[in-house]
Amino acid sequence: MQRFETAKDAALALRPDVPVYCFRPDVLVADARQFMQAFPGETAYAVKTNGEPLVLETLAKAGVKTFDVASPGEFEVVRAVAPDAEMLYMHPIKAQSDIRLALERYGIRVMALDHEDEIAKILRIVRALDLDPGSITIFVRLQTKGHAAYELSKKFGAAPAHAVELLQRCHKIGFKVGLCFHVGSQIEDPETYERALASADWVRNRADVPLAGLDVGGGFPAEYGHDPRRKKRDMPGLDEIMTRLRADMEEWGFSDMPLVAEPGRVVVARAFSLIVRVLLRKGRRLYINDGIWASLSDSWTGKITLPARFIPDPARTSRNGNPESISAFRVCGATCDSVDILSRPFWLPETVDTGDWIEIGHIGAYSLSLRTRFNGFYPDTFVEVATPFDAGERAEGFASLETMAD
Ligand SMILES: *Cc1c(COP(=O)(O)O)cnc(C)c1O
Repeated sequence: MQRFETAKDAALALRPDVPVYCFRPDVLVADARQFMQAFPGETAYAVKTNGEPLVLETLAKAGVKTFDVASPGEFEVVRAVAPDAEMLYMHPIKAQSDIRLALERYGIRVMALDHEDEIAKILRIVRALDLDPGSITIFVRLQTKGHAAYELSKKFGAAPAHAVELLQRCHKIGFKVGLCFHVGSQIEDPETYERALASADWVRNRADVPLAGLDVGGGFPAEYGHDPRRKKRDMPGLDEIMTRLRADMEEWGFSDMPLVAEPGRVVVARAFSLIVRVLLRKGRRLYINDGIWASLSDSWTGKITLPARFIPDPARTSRNGNPESISAFRVCGATCDSVDILSRPFWLPETVDTGDWIEIGHIGAYSLSLRTRFNGFYPDTFVEVATPFDAGERAEGFASLETMAD
């Protein structure tokens, strides 16, 4: 992989017409270690967030020993790059054949569920393979309510009274049992974990079975840009959320048992940026060579403002507009689909034009893993970059009203 000091160096050297992912292994290692140091338990990286082999390999080297997986494809990629790593199969609804694959071929011994029929599926394979149920830990997934940019508890999770029954039933079979929840992605309210812990405490007291562990899932927020027209919202940072979470786990009496977290976004978001090219400027619209069907689907929902940095093409000799003045541009994607337009504008200098590049920061989470081959566009070019995105010159999408005034 070619190495550059900054994404700008890469853009000017390669003059790419295709989107280029800028991978920052040092940032990935630093963010993973920061999480592991702050969380008082096992860190299981959520592979779906970004399952690129180079990411998993770098995380394994950084000391991540456990991975949260959901499918045979994820079992395989983790096993290939980190053969000694433990896998937690935390998808609550699994195909029978995938359960067999997990238990038989991959030696997975930790699984999640939220329904009694799933217990029956697992038990069938456990009996067929003549495994000791006591060697397997079943995490019962608990429904939670919270405020996250992406609410994920509507789909999975047992209501508290149901979770009590599931715990007791699994315990009676001889499985080790734990409780897990996943509050959603990019949580916006630090109380979210506390509500889930209070609910887990209620379930534990009612179930009255020994708990082998508590898995608090993911949801830890990553840093993004913001709309300079609006007041910057006071978002809790990872430090604040983690301090609260530790105190809440203590208060609700969970700090003595084995703890697991499944961070995704917060570990990998900063590790990648993306260089895109402006294929055409049409008034206030920029048509770029990527979009919601490729690397930018996570921003399509309008929940996230991606920070953007302007990389002007030095070959362009004449420009219109004031280079000091930043304005909003609507960003249209590469495919012929009319929904392929980002819901939030990019804030860029007025002089941006056809042929320029834009570096989009903090796209490591849910971008590479969600890209499609729609319309034949599939970004797959990587370079390595040393300087963190935030360390470069000011990114326009990060600009606040105050800094824009000077
Ligand atoms: C997606 C997912 C995660 C990771 O969530 P982030 O918000 O990216 O940290 C963790 N656990 C489960 C069960 C998930 O589905």
